[in-house]
Amino acid sequence: ASRVPLPEFDGTGRLADGHRVPLLANVGSGADAVEAAAAGAQGVGLLRTEFCFLSRDTEPTREEQVEAYRAVFDAFGGAKVVVRTLDAGADKPLPFLTDDSEPNPALGVRGYRTDAAVPGVLARQLAAIAEAADGSTAEVWTMAPMISTPAEAAAFAGMCAEAGLKTPGVMVEVPSAALMARQLASEVDFASIGTNDLTQYTMAADRQLGALAELNDPWQPAVLHLVKATCDGGAAVQGDPRPVGVCGEAAADPALAVVLVGLGVATLSMNRRALPAVAAILKTVDLPGAQRIAGLALGAGSADEARGAVRAELPELD
Ligand code: PEP
Ligand code: MG
Repeated sequence: ASRVPLPEFDGTGRLADGHRVPLLANVGSGADAVEAAAAGAQGVGLLRTEFCFLSRDTEPTREEQVEAYRAVFDAFGGAKVVVRTLDAGADKPLPFLTDDSEPNPALGVRGYRTDAAVPGVLARQLAAIAEAADGSTAEVWTMAPMISTPAEAAAFAGMCAEAGLKTPGVMVEVPSAALMARQLASEVDFASIGTNDLTQYTMAADRQLGALAELNDPWQPAVLHLVKATCDGGAAVQGDPRPVGVCGEAAADPALAVVLVGLGVATLSMNRRALPAVAAILKTVDLPGAQRIAGLALGAGSADEARGAVRAELPELD
């Protein structure tokens, strides 16, 4: 049957009761950011800075970095832009940072961990982000990938402060980070869950192996329990609850987006193409409804059961 096309995203994510869920875009370049802004994204929830420099075999200069980041900030004047520092290694090797002789790259020196192996690159990147943010109207937040401990979160926040960056955060991509979310979040201003890696590490299933797709599914209830632990941890920071977003592919699955909001996720960041479908389904539920639906997913014994139980509650899904 032919389907009525979804209306364009009108630029404000909200539930049926008016509860706001800002819908942001994942981008990898200034050109991407321009398209995301045109699609109505309310900001950028994930700028994958390594995508700006994937083909490089030397560290990009300060000027090159400032230009790349500024192109994204310019596309989102007045809006929030979350910059992720270089996530080199494993599925995203960068020749100037990544040791390609590691036996298990996904468990190796990647993301924030490269700062200890190749000192200086992260500090120089933070300085370039600060310079690009200076004079821009974008509200620049900065986060580190592959954070495993509260001590790493604290060290990253210290580096951001040294660079003059105001809003440091961490990605939650590793079960240890989800389980220690309160302590981790108390060191920074926000957390953003990377469900692609969180799923890979929770299920011990390589995200690049199609043969493990059944395990590598963000609907796995074990992953959803860790999402809940992260949201609860952010909310439990004494006196000043920290917002928790999701910027992995899970945010682009409309039914799963409802579950994530019900678990306490404040913002969803996704490929711009997913914005209209996610916005449309969120409008069909109120917050208590999303919480009830999230409870069904948490109580399921398998990914299929979780998906089936949630889809049955969302008749507007096609
Ligand atoms: C994630 O892991 O979910 C994420 C958003 O980061 P990346 O996909 O770039 O590893
Ligand atoms: Mg990741």
